[in-house]
Formats: sequence, structure tokens, C-alpha cells
Amino acid sequence: MEELRNKSILIIYTGGTIGMKKNPETGVLAPFDFNQIMNEVPELKRFGFDLITYSFSPIIDSSNLNPEVWIKLVQIIKEKYDDFNGFVILHGTDTMAYSASALSFMLENLDKPVIFTGSQLPIGTLRTDGKENLISAVEIAAAEQNGQPLTPEVCIYFENKLFRGNRTTKYNAEHFNAFESPNYPYLAQAGINIKYNYGAIHYPTTKKELHIHTQLNTNIAVLKIFPGINKSTLHTILNIDDVKAIILETFGAGNAPTDKWFLDEIKNAVAKDKIILNVTQCLAGSVDMSKYETGLELLKCGVISGYDITTEAAVVKMMYILGKNLAIEDTKLIIGQSISGEITQ
Ligand code: ASP
Repeated sequence: MEELRNKSILIIYTGGTIGMKKNPETGVLAPFDFNQIMNEVPELKRFGFDLITYSFSPIIDSSNLNPEVWIKLVQIIKEKYDDFNGFVILHGTDTMAYSASALSFMLENLDKPVIFTGSQLPIGTLRTDGKENLISAVEIAAAEQNGQPLTPEVCIYFENKLFRGNRTTKYNAEHFNAFESPNYPYLAQAGINIKYNYGAIHYPTTKKELHIHTQLNTNIAVLKIFPGINKSTLHTILNIDDVKAIILETFGAGNAPTDKWFLDEIKNAVAKDKIILNVTQCLAGSVDMSKYETGLELLKCGVISGYDITTEAAVVKMMYILGKNLAIEDTKLIIGQSISGEITQ
């Protein structure tokens, strides 16, 4: 690996547990001044990088997040793109998988690392996982070979692993290894050395100007089906006026009940130009509606396969495509294709 000195990294702090510190007087966790990051994590100085911090004000618990935050993030990255080798975004873990997915669609022609990280314990606590996460995320954001960044993607770094952001899900609310990427290999693993999985990382072949997409349409719904779901629940959700698209979380390989009333509701919704995307409730694996009769019936009703997309990526991909105001047939076509490596086809 190349000499890493003289690299400049922008660290954007949006909020979340990582930036908290115990107030010695009150004993309560409160955000600390992020401009003091070098004092909190003095190890960072040893990289010799130019580390510039930008803190959101007010900072947010990521459970309060909305697409405005994604728009602000991509605007900051666009504005500062030429000044930095890479970007590290400190973010709460609760919705980090949504944000990383969103940025992967909103930053077109990205050719620099954008690494999300956070922690399960505040950086100011003794057993924090935040220091290691932050230090490694900064190292990865700066890593280059022959002048090319090693991970020019939107990623999540957490607990020794680097993931493609739009493939992740938060699956553990307690352990340090909070994230998984069940349908895509790790992009890197940090042990004694950081080992990059070059074959899994997307490297752009041509240099194009970074283009940001800032129109998102949030008129969507997520419907998780369950044994015993009744007609009125299904009918109500499928017929909300403003809702243009429904992410249907189905069983196994994309299966759902074949009762006539169920299929009729789906058919009627499709006839009313609702877009229905089939995503599996399983943590790993893909929708394949041609495998069982219970899937095939959905396909016949006009439901679209989400393949092995996560619900998180499906939600923001839908907002992103609806934001383009395309004709419904084009929307349906694009939703089934990979835009930023979020599905395997
Ligand atoms: N609720 C916090 C957040 O997502 C949890 C965390 O930071 O991990 O902002």
C-alpha cells in the first residue's frame, strides 16, 4: 500500500452514539464538541493526515432521520469533493443501512471512498468500539494504490469489516458486530492488516463528474405479510391514495398466500398503477417467483422481483426512482435492475 501521509479526509458527524461522552458532573451521556476529535482520539494524529471535521447542528439520533439529511450529506460531499481524498460519515447505527443505501444511489459517478461508521458504545467510554471503528474508517477512506482509492464506494465500516453500504442491514442491537451483508461479500476485513477483497469492490472504468440526485419521493409503504393477515389490512395499505409503491415483504423465496381475496387485492392495486416490489423477509437469499406456486401467482398479478435486495435498499431505491417522475413502465423496469450494486442478477 502507498504512503498515506498528505491525505485529506473530511469527517462528517451527523450524530449517534459514537459522538457521546459522559459529562463528569452529571454522569449523563451528551454529544461532545466534534472539533475536539483529535483530543478525544489522539491516535488519529499519527496518520499525519489532514483531518477536517464538519458537525451537523443540531446533531441527530438516527432514528429521527429523514431524507433531508441525505440531501444535505450529498450536497456537502459534492461541494467538498475536489478538496478531499475521502469522506467518513459518523452516523447512528439505527438507520445507517438506509443512509448508506441512499447515498449509493444519490452519488452518481462516485470515485472516492464514502465510509459510514458509528459505534455501539460512546467514544468517551472505556470499552468503546468507536475508536477502532473511527480509526480504521479513516485509514480505509485514505487508502490508495497507484493514486487510485482502494474503496471508491459508499461503504459501512463496523467491527473489523467493510461492507458495501447498500447491502447492509443492522441485525444486532447489542453486540459490537451490529451489521451484516448477507448477500454480498465483505469489501475488506481488518485484522493485523486491512485485507481488501478487490474482486468485490466496484472500480469505475471512466472518470466522470460527480452528479448528485436530490429528488426523492417518500410516498411509499412497506408491508410485511404474516400468516393471518386480513383483507382489510391488506386492502387499506394497498389503497392509500398517496402511496405510489409498496415494498411487499414476503415469505422465503418471495411467496405469499394464494387465497383468491389476497391475489385479487394485489391485482387491483397493480391495475391502479401501484408498484409492488417483492422483497424477502429472510435475512439472506433471493426472491425467485418462479420457484413455487405461491410466488408465481404474485408474478402473474404484476408484482416485480426485488431479487436479493435488502428492505433498507429497496425503500430508498424506490424513493430515488419515484423522485424521477418517470412513466410507470420505466419505473418498473428500473426498479428491477441494479443501479449501484444493490442486487445480484
Ligand atoms: N439511536 C442511536 C442512533 O442510531 C443508536 C446508535 O448511535 O447506535 O442514532
